[in-house]
Amino acid sequence: MMKKNNTSFNRTTINFGAGPACLPLVVLEEIRDKLTDWYGGMSILEISHRHSKVMEHLENIERDFRQVLNIPEDFAVLFLSGGARGQFSAVPLNLLQGAKEADYIITGFWSYLAQQEGGKYCSANVVASSEPQQYRTIPPFKSWQLSDKAAYFHYTENETIHGVAFQEVPQVDKWLISDMTSSLLTKPIDFTRFGLIYASAQKNLGIAGITPVIVRKTLLGEAHPLTPAIFNYQKFYETKSLYNTPPLFSWYVLGLMVKWVQNEGGCALFAKRNAQKAALIYDLIDSSDFYSNVVDKAYRSPVNIPFNLPNKALEEKFLFEAEENGLRQLKGHKLIGGCRASLFNAMPLEHVEILASFMADFEKRYG
Ligand SMILES: *Cc1c(COP(=O)(O)O)cnc(C)c1O
Repeated sequence: MMKKNNTSFNRTTINFGAGPACLPLVVLEEIRDKLTDWYGGMSILEISHRHSKVMEHLENIERDFRQVLNIPEDFAVLFLSGGARGQFSAVPLNLLQGAKEADYIITGFWSYLAQQEGGKYCSANVVASSEPQQYRTIPPFKSWQLSDKAAYFHYTENETIHGVAFQEVPQVDKWLISDMTSSLLTKPIDFTRFGLIYASAQKNLGIAGITPVIVRKTLLGEAHPLTPAIFNYQKFYETKSLYNTPPLFSWYVLGLMVKWVQNEGGCALFAKRNAQKAALIYDLIDSSDFYSNVVDKAYRSPVNIPFNLPNKALEEKFLFEAEENGLRQLKGHKLIGGCRASLFNAMPLEHVEILASFMADFEKRYG
């Protein structure tokens, strides 16, 4: 089924994992080629983050990151550790600023966890939840119970596990805070309504360890006094995110990913490409009685596609044969089972075509 050394990508396996996720071969090759000597005979793994060459490089990464996302000047770009889950705490600690309430909309596992964590620091108001619909849709705007007293409105743009995504920026009259862990760099962003955007790197920005936070500068400087310094945005702003020893390797890989997105043609290009990739799989599912996707068509994720086969036994067979053919990590998240194909930026159309033809072939044999 899967050709060895297929296309120009030259990988013998295809990784559909949701995070850690596949990286472009050129990025992996660059890492390999420079691994033992990034500068002056030193590896990026051993050089100091205070080295002038490193500091200069980190500034270039921020410049590229700003350029590729078109981040306005009135936003700071910080690089923290602790993943998206760290931000579930850092956001309320830094942005409540004396308020006792914040609004959260729950559309899947990740926004549920963000709300639960936020609830440790304030009254985390559930504006609406699609939990009664098993997170298969986004609650209609007219049902949202917004609070006047909320410091901000938090939402998860793309629910990586449930495969449900906001198609538009919510029209809410509060600073929007968004977990874009699985959607940052997949499309252009209009920053007008945003107070803060965060993303863990291992889905679409490289590898785990670094968490970019894009935050409106006017929101800095009023963290709760008990905020751990390591989560204090103002401290990271003042120190250019060199408050302590940063995860330099993850930061460096993020820089390579950003450059790669730039070189390929930017976020608008990826939005088109990702839609094209997703359509291949959704069209196949929709035209089949064998495969199914339970998400409301209006809110389907362009990058994470959960799908089912007629029964568990067939799903197991499917996953087993997929693995045999080099199509890896198609197993759905343990919360919802089934299968899931993650098609982040680094997944080329050619590889999605291979998955589509494997799926069609499997249906022919077992459907
Ligand atoms: C993966 C993921 C997280 C968790 O990220 P960590 O880096 O493990 O904390 C949070 N939100 C979304 C949308 C995710 O996809």
